[in-house]
Amino acid sequence: MCDVCRLENKNSILSNGDKPNNGSKLYRVYLGKIASVNLCHLHGIELFCVGESRFLASHIELAIDLGENRNRYIQTSYF
Ligand SMILES: [Zn+2]
Repeated sequence: MCDVCRLENKNSILSNGDKPNNGSKLYRVYLGKIASVNLCHLHGIELFCVGESRFLASHIELAIDLGENRNRYIQTSYF
């Protein structure tokens, strides 16, 4: 399930059909660490188009959750 849709209580199946979520990486959230988020097709496109900073600014719930639940998102392996 898409992390943004989950946090904003949106139905990602309704807006995306059953296309699989793709894992996206955020590089500027944690110092020296990569945050890995699940995004639906639409939110993946949005992140690609607007960039990381503006994406987090427009999805403040995700930004807050990234701060509160670091362990959920921090990618431990770089491979
Ligand atoms: Zn989504």
